[in-house]
Amino acid sequence: MKKEPFVTLEKLNEITEKFPTPFHLYDEKGIRENAKALKEAFAWNKGFKEFFAVKATPNPYLINILQEYGCGCDCSSETELMMAKAVGCKKGDIMFSSNDTPEKEFRYADEIGGIINLDDITHIESVEKALGKIPEVISCRYNPGGVFKISNGIMDNPGDAKYGMTTEQIFDAFRILKSKGAKEFGIHAFLASNTVTNDYYPMLAEVMFELAVKLQKETGAHIKFINLSGGIGIPYKPDQEPNDIRVIGEGVRKVYEEVLVPEGMGDVAIYTELGRFMMGPYGCLVTKAIHEKHTHKEYIGVDACAVNLMRPAMYGAYHHITVMGKENEPCDHKYDVTGSLCENNDKFAIDRMLPKIDKGDLLVIHDTGAHGFAMGYNYNGKLKSAEILLHEDGSFEMIRRAETPRDYFATFDCFPVFEKLLQDEDELK
Ligand SMILES: *Cc1c(COP(=O)(O)O)cnc(C)c1O
Repeated sequence: MKKEPFVTLEKLNEITEKFPTPFHLYDEKGIRENAKALKEAFAWNKGFKEFFAVKATPNPYLINILQEYGCGCDCSSETELMMAKAVGCKKGDIMFSSNDTPEKEFRYADEIGGIINLDDITHIESVEKALGKIPEVISCRYNPGGVFKISNGIMDNPGDAKYGMTTEQIFDAFRILKSKGAKEFGIHAFLASNTVTNDYYPMLAEVMFELAVKLQKETGAHIKFINLSGGIGIPYKPDQEPNDIRVIGEGVRKVYEEVLVPEGMGDVAIYTELGRFMMGPYGCLVTKAIHEKHTHKEYIGVDACAVNLMRPAMYGAYHHITVMGKENEPCDHKYDVTGSLCENNDKFAIDRMLPKIDKGDLLVIHDTGAHGFAMGYNYNGKLKSAEILLHEDGSFEMIRRAETPRDYFATFDCFPVFEKLLQDEDELK
């Protein structure tokens, strides 16, 4: 299947007249259609709620769009909680799925109406200490260990993952929490990441629903929700078949009716914490070719670098690249597409067959809407880019400005050297 950008060259030329490259561009239309499809796919479940994994794309303007479709926020740090509060999340709209958590973050999460999802049994004590009580609604994260095998060779390794409680621990945790006053319980598990198959959620649901039945029976705890968390993937590669959220929703419904309903648990709400699936395909990194180099290999240097998109450097992840305006030209040039970091892994593509690239060409790096901008860092003193939202009517607006040297030096603002640094910056202009 051909991967096409959600934006035309004509529109990009219009945008780059106002905002210099590089920048992340988001597709409001795509975000809306997908959020609506998710909502419809789980409409059979009365309590269904998606808690958007804020870490994937922590931008209030984008989260606002998701909120129109009933989404809340899944957070795991103080600043993510602050953002959830700032976008208007109310009691029950925030899931706090953290790990290795400082006590004060439990307190803050509880204060702003978040549901605490415990990653470890020892956190019962931390929460009790932090809050002076155990909240009435509480959740526990499960890790069955071993290998989680899904269809067609797709699998992941919960046994190697730092998250969650063992089976024995989660039963103990439920008993302890119940004895300390918890009234409503949730369970959560994230057993495989970026699954491009419609089978992951239904298979996870089966594990979780069976666990829920046992937990309710053996501990007498009332299960209010089952959180299937994130993990639904997106097709980064052109030959991958995208997930069909309707098929996934139906698959979960079938297991729900087979396992939970006969046990009188037809009131259990399904929660999700999707990040990548909600935003990944609806963002791209727009960058310009600024340099070509012919040495032992053919290099195209662009004005973005791993600071703007870390996944290729970090995981060797594939991100499709479209050379704008050359969509129909033959891919007869083999390039490494590089950023400017003093790190040889700063390459958006290695040995990629692309049309001949000329200086000044605009490149769209696909599927950067989740875990893209968000993973950014400041190595080599590189600054983070702007984020721009493309509206359905073709208009666009900046939803985060690009960093300036002032931002980079801001953490020196309590030192005399700060003024000097900024003075120098002003003189440069
Ligand atoms: C990262 C994360 C998610 C989102 O994962 P995706 O792969 O983006 O769907 C959800 N929940 C938790 C606890 C996470 O850490």
